[in-house]
Amino acid sequence: MLKIKLAKGIGFCSGVKRAINIVEKILTRHKGKVYSYGSIIHNPLVIRRLEKKNLFTVSSLDDVEDSSVVILPSHGSPRFIKNLAKKKKIKLIDVICPYVSSVHKICASLYRKKLKVVIVGDRTHPEVKALVDLAPNARIIGNTNEIKENEFSYKKIGIISQTTQAKAEFFKIVAKILKKNHNLSQVHIFNTICLDTSNRQEEVKRLAEVVDTLLVIGSGTSANTKRLLQLGRKVNKKTFLVEHDNVVLDKILKNARDIGIISGASAPQWLVKAIVKKIREATLDT
Ligand code: SF4
Repeated sequence: MLKIKLAKGIGFCSGVKRAINIVEKILTRHKGKVYSYGSIIHNPLVIRRLEKKNLFTVSSLDDVEDSSVVILPSHGSPRFIKNLAKKKKIKLIDVICPYVSSVHKICASLYRKKLKVVIVGDRTHPEVKALVDLAPNARIIGNTNEIKENEFSYKKIGIISQTTQAKAEFFKIVAKILKKNHNLSQVHIFNTICLDTSNRQEEVKRLAEVVDTLLVIGSGTSANTKRLLQLGRKVNKKTFLVEHDNVVLDKILKNARDIGIISGASAPQWLVKAIVKKIREATLDT
């Protein structure tokens, strides 16, 4: 008999839940077009649903008529958008996650105090780009290989992290910065990995150990989902990414007896339920 173990970390995290609730309300109440500057969250399935309710995703405010309503995403956006919006009399609604917002405050305060800001994260991710906007010339470090010997001419640095980093990787990078840079006089370290992310990362490792097959539900475009997948695969080779409910499960379910399910922070509950239902149906047929 096939068993399914559901993780506690399934469905939207608090930041994504809050963002989607606000957007849904705006789409119901506002009569005209509603735009979003980039993806509100990193899950194309959810975005497509919102687009069916009249949300238009744009990558530039040039594509938006003056005086429109524009939603800014949950992972934060650069300040120039706010200045540009003022000029075009655009009404901005910022659904930034409160946790990301608190990281912005830390980043801005380090910069104000004239510390060199070091961001551990992915330089191509919008969350990191928004942090660099608050601390121009910040040093971004993606992995331990990027750390050079005595690279900081600044004697004081402040290290923060993208909210979805793996905790072990963050501390490895911090340790290597300290080891390679004896000239530093002050190092301020802020573990800004969000609690929801940390909890899911711990849970995926535990779950990967006790099941024979592990499904990580979420989008390949989501940083925290990709991280769960990496961590799961380190422990259990049979860890699979499931992005939508029309997935073909035959290969995944072959010989599976114990299936673990966890999701990224931007994967909706309805998707998890649909996949659980599909697994149940598929295994009834065999
Ligand atoms: S993963 Fe964390 S930081 Fe990102 S939106 Fe969710 S609660 Fe906020």
